[in-house]
Amino acid sequence: MNSNDNGFSRRKFIKAACMTCAGAALISTTGCSFKLFGGKSNKEREKEMLGTLVGKCGIDCAVCPAYIATQENNEEKIKEIAGQWSEAFQYDVKPEDVWCDGCPQTEGRLSGFARQLCEARKCAFELKYDNCAYCPDFACAKLEMIYGFDPNIKTKMEEFRKSLKL
Ligand code: SF4
Ligand code: SF4
Repeated sequence: MNSNDNGFSRRKFIKAACMTCAGAALISTTGCSFKLFGGKSNKEREKEMLGTLVGKCGIDCAVCPAYIATQENNEEKIKEIAGQWSEAFQYDVKPEDVWCDGCPQTEGRLSGFARQLCEARKCAFELKYDNCAYCPDFACAKLEMIYGFDPNIKTKMEEFRKSLKL
């Protein structure tokens, strides 16, 4: 079956999969995060331009269905999402790979994708960037797959990056 047949496209999948990562947001360790530009700090600008729970690639985890279902502790919804992702991705996604507290956190639940597959997340944590927009190597090859699924995320990140005046 085509991934769009049930209205759950691959793009939605990647958004959802990526957004299944949050919780205790990483406290910024990058100096530039607090730089003022246009009367606002970079963190204020980040919230305005990218969202309230920003993944390393720039996705707003707060609007991810898996994140929302996790916060609601909604087991039925998690199973439903696993079914949708399985169909969309033609891969047997287990419910345990859906529970997620969001990309920015390190102590809560993480989707299988965020936990095992996402090279960008791993890299940005190692380099201690709040998200990849703060990195001089943005947008590196590790982001290619994510931005390939949804180029809008890259566009948003490029705009945000410009606003940082790095
Ligand atoms: S960096 Fe990776 S795990 Fe984090 S939101 Fe983006 S795709 Fe998901
Ligand atoms: S090297 Fe790439 S994945 Fe790593 S923090 Fe920089 S932009 Fe992100």
